[in-house]
Amino acid sequence: MIGDGTAIRAGYSAELDELRTIGTRARTWMQEHQIQERNRTGISSLKIGYNRVFGYYLEITNAHKERIPADYIRKQTLTGAERYVTPELKTWEEKILHADEKLERLEEEIWEQLRSELISRSTDLTRIARTLAELDTFVSLATVAREQRYVRPVVNEGTRLDIVQGRHPVVERLVSQSAGFIANDLSLDTERRQIMILTGPNMSGKSTFLRQAALIVLLAQTGSFVPAASAEVGIVDRIFTRIGAGDNLAGGESTFLVEMSEVSNILRHATPRSLMILDEVGRGTSTYDGLSLAWAITEYLHEHPEIAGKTLFATHYHELNRMSASYPRIFNARVDVEEWGDRIVFLHRISSGETDQSYGIEVAKLAGLPAAVVARARELLPHWEDNGSKPAETQAPAPPVLQLTLFESDTQRVADALRNLNLDDLTPRDALDKLYEIKRLFESPESANRSRKP
Ligand code: ADP
Repeated sequence: MIGDGTAIRAGYSAELDELRTIGTRARTWMQEHQIQERNRTGISSLKIGYNRVFGYYLEITNAHKERIPADYIRKQTLTGAERYVTPELKTWEEKILHADEKLERLEEEIWEQLRSELISRSTDLTRIARTLAELDTFVSLATVAREQRYVRPVVNEGTRLDIVQGRHPVVERLVSQSAGFIANDLSLDTERRQIMILTGPNMSGKSTFLRQAALIVLLAQTGSFVPAASAEVGIVDRIFTRIGAGDNLAGGESTFLVEMSEVSNILRHATPRSLMILDEVGRGTSTYDGLSLAWAITEYLHEHPEIAGKTLFATHYHELNRMSASYPRIFNARVDVEEWGDRIVFLHRISSGETDQSYGIEVAKLAGLPAAVVARARELLPHWEDNGSKPAETQAPAPPVLQLTLFESDTQRVADALRNLNLDDLTPRDALDKLYEIKRLFESPESANRSRKP
């Protein structure tokens, strides 16, 4: 607070420092005086206090009335105590109040001076700040460019986007040194390679690839070097994105509604010069709704010259791969994975062509889903795939054959139960109960159901 005596640093004004010293000295005197007066009167509860009306006073409780020295002047009577002053106390009070008042005024004066000085130089100061901010930006970009081996992109008025060995500027710093970031190429243009349909399992690197393309274009157009071996960037007028982060559930909008309103914004405002990044459009609704929408949106982007800008479309709808056969500017790419028995390894490498598998179950397994769930999902998969073309006729799949999937873990549970039994403490009745309990684990689902229903 300006005026409370602490706003201006010591050493700035000698006068201010002096006033502060007086104040401190006077307060020390008060403390010493209290001790002194306690000794003189023999009243250990005597204390010095302060209030706005009477200033500083010596307070003595009524129990010690007869010991009050003759030089004390009575100022105020309370129920249990009296308050006094002495000429000496008054003198020091003067000093404190005077110093405080001057301090407050002086501090405000100094503050005002500083303000008017700043105002008179505001133009210079703003210019300096702006220049420093600019320098800071350039130095930061230059530092990153050198440390992370960025290259100078070719920015031109063409319509191509050609990235060789592109990297994601943030993800490449986050992946472990040993795994290393896999650089990928990208080639888009408005004449032959307008729309890339990118498929690949979850966690394979689709989003990363999409975002890195957008970031490289953005960096190039801000004048920065870019994380790639080389890059040619035909200037874009806007980068449109439809990525999962914009969910506004709290605002009462479903994920799907947000998704669709973002897409409609793109379809209404894109130009052939735009870059569009579509990550999993159609995911928020049922499979066939989503697929139909995704297909129609892609078709629209291809068929309407006024919005036919370069587009990266990552999707888990493999059906979209079929579009490349009928639409000349649509092409397919996929993120490679390697299969090891029933495991998969992500290679994070983008290559041309389509994916025929989504590996969703494998990814779920990697994520630690219980083995029984993974096995059951595998069992169910062909059911949906077979009925895929006739969704209306889809029958509910048969219930799981539980014994098979449960067998292993139940044997384990029985073994554990037996191991933990203390046979010597078991009554014949307890033993029988245990036996029933164990037997129930091996009952078939039908008989289990029957026995559960009374
Ligand atoms: P998707 O969109 O296919 O689900 P992401 O793009 O979110 O996958 O990537 C998942 C993870 O894989 C990232 O967080 C990152 O750790 C890793 N990753 C992605 N791309 C690469 C790459 N090119 N090189 C190395 N690791 C990558």
